[in-house]
Amino acid sequence: MAAKVKDNTKKPLLEVKNLKKYFPITKGIISRVVGQVKAVDDISFHVYPNETVGLVGESGCGKTTAGRTLLRLLEPTGGEAIFDGRDVFQLDQLELRKARRDMQIIFQDPYSSLNPRMTIEAIIGEAIQFHGIASGDERRKIVEDLLVRVGLQPSYITRYPHEFSGGQRQRIGIARALALKPKFIVCDEAVSALDVSVQAQVINLLKELQEEFNLSYLFIAHDLSVVKHISDRIAVMYLGQLVEFADCNSLFKAPRHPYTQSLLSAIPHPDPRRKKARVILEGDVPSPINPPSGCRFHTRCPACFGPCSKVVPKTIEVEPDHFVQCHLYDPEHAPKDPTVFDRLPQSVPEHSSKKKPPESLGAAAAAAPAVVDEEE
Ligand code: SF4
Repeated sequence: MAAKVKDNTKKPLLEVKNLKKYFPITKGIISRVVGQVKAVDDISFHVYPNETVGLVGESGCGKTTAGRTLLRLLEPTGGEAIFDGRDVFQLDQLELRKARRDMQIIFQDPYSSLNPRMTIEAIIGEAIQFHGIASGDERRKIVEDLLVRVGLQPSYITRYPHEFSGGQRQRIGIARALALKPKFIVCDEAVSALDVSVQAQVINLLKELQEEFNLSYLFIAHDLSVVKHISDRIAVMYLGQLVEFADCNSLFKAPRHPYTQSLLSAIPHPDPRRKKARVILEGDVPSPINPPSGCRFHTRCPACFGPCSKVVPKTIEVEPDHFVQCHLYDPEHAPKDPTVFDRLPQSVPEHSSKKKPPESLGAAAAAAPAVVDEEE
């Protein structure tokens, strides 16, 4: 999908600054805290009105925790989430209830996220009544209209969740999220549990609704090929931190972080004759209880060199609005030996680019290999 032209003069709808979410590890009968699971550790990004930001990474990297913490379904450990000019983390319960009208979520599992004992009218209409928007016949009419808008029959309002397929249930989940006319929706692995053909329908529906209701999405998924079809910008997460954040096109054309390159290399190409180098990451994702020192990816990175295990990498803007957290692109730490770049994953699917890091990043960084597909 061609990304929408981003208007940088717009004010962000949501600004996330240094977000942290740690879970305490307790032990013994007095629940003594003996450690912390650093699920989200100091991430910052922003979302513009009518924009979709994709958040991708392996299972357990903290992306779902980040999305839920932004809505305060989980209480944050630190940071700020400025939504429409106000810090969501500072709101009291009454203010938070009002803010939730504008911030909604679509859950991953369409089976467990709908109460099996409630009718569809009650599920979608619950928030409408709770916020005093409508009741009785008026509420029923709103629910029927929402069902039609998400591609379901209005007569379904008397049915129960078990009477629907997975795709239909996810449409009901979308209708519920839309009921309060929000500005921002966290789509938490919203299509991951669906069949591929249903995934495409739901993604198209989300795109249509975005235009119609002027919505912004934080689209969380582990599959980059899915995220690509809906996102304007993409943030790549590894072990609780953002390692790369860029416009969708530039991320796919010239991914810079070795982790992003390996994720892209794992996307199958529709043409089986097209050969491409796969990058198989070795080892498991390290524990977020005791993350590796320096760069958290250094234990699995094929390009790991001198400072990687000791110095935490800074976030570098390698191109306008393309940010990477990696020493390879930091003029202060970039390797003197350009052969380090030869160890980088060489191939990404579909697009190819001969772009190299800008010369301003130093001679070594400029020696980074072109990222190209290998044709037979
Ligand atoms: Fe690899 Fe070093 Fe970059 Fe981390 S900082 S991604 S270990 S090259």
